[in-house]
Amino acid sequence: MNIHLDVISSASNPLIKTLRGLERKKIRNETGLFLAEGGRLITQALQQGWSIDTLAVSDSGRQREKTEALLALAAEQGARLVQIPDRLAGAITRKNNPQAVLAAIKQRPLHLESLDPLSGGLWLGLYEIRDPGNLGTILRTADCAALAGIVMIGTCCDPYSVEAVRASMGSLFDVGVASASYSDFQTWRRTGGLNMVAASLHGTHRHTEIDFRGPSVILMGNEQAGLPPAVEADCDQLCRIPMRGGADSLNLAQASAVMVYEGWRQREFQ
Ligand code: SAM
Repeated sequence: MNIHLDVISSASNPLIKTLRGLERKKIRNETGLFLAEGGRLITQALQQGWSIDTLAVSDSGRQREKTEALLALAAEQGARLVQIPDRLAGAITRKNNPQAVLAAIKQRPLHLESLDPLSGGLWLGLYEIRDPGNLGTILRTADCAALAGIVMIGTCCDPYSVEAVRASMGSLFDVGVASASYSDFQTWRRTGGLNMVAASLHGTHRHTEIDFRGPSVILMGNEQAGLPPAVEADCDQLCRIPMRGGADSLNLAQASAVMVYEGWRQREFQ
């Protein structure tokens, strides 16, 4: 198939400026787009029905055979296709060794209504978490451990930031994510009859003593402040992951993985 690509070589081209700008939340909000890097991730997005606005292939990427299949798939779905010099791919991603394929993908709304609390399964609530690297890593864990979905509670970092998308390794395209105020989250979880279990340093039970086999949501706290006392008071149970040594806590993404895998283990990895 002979696929037509617009060739762009100037850094001042408006499209290149937009792609570069996707690193900033302001530009992501204005355009409703976010940046994904690499053929594997972009193929995953297409397979999961995400809509690609623009697919940019570097000169060296164009020479690779597998790029053609991706270009054909993106063209079929109506994406704008462009070819750019490797140096512009580097400028967009701020990397010396950029991926050969980049995409501006349309964001999906993060409405809580898109997650059905009655669907059973194990959920994760992230309270005011701030580090996009942690968020991306947690998305990846959630994908691997078949979580029902993730609710970001209060003001959290942006799942569409470049760092979160990179760290999620494509799991952002597979896992249901929503954003909600704490009170909307509470209404939602009550509708689903979800047992709310906080992972907390104030936990009185070990995490392995909690029964995760029923409908449950695990709540994880902010990287610095943890969970506010009022939120912990609302929880059905508080549990602690045992620790020894000098550190006062586990990293948030690692604690999330320990919690989620305990829940999934109890569910026979189903
Ligand atoms: N100084 C914070 C505090 O007092 O909670 C530490 C926050 S910790 C880096 C971020 C989150 O990871 C915590 O809110 C909690 O949800 C979880 N976490 C970290 N270590 C944990 C542990 N040993 N047991 C249970 N949860 C833990």
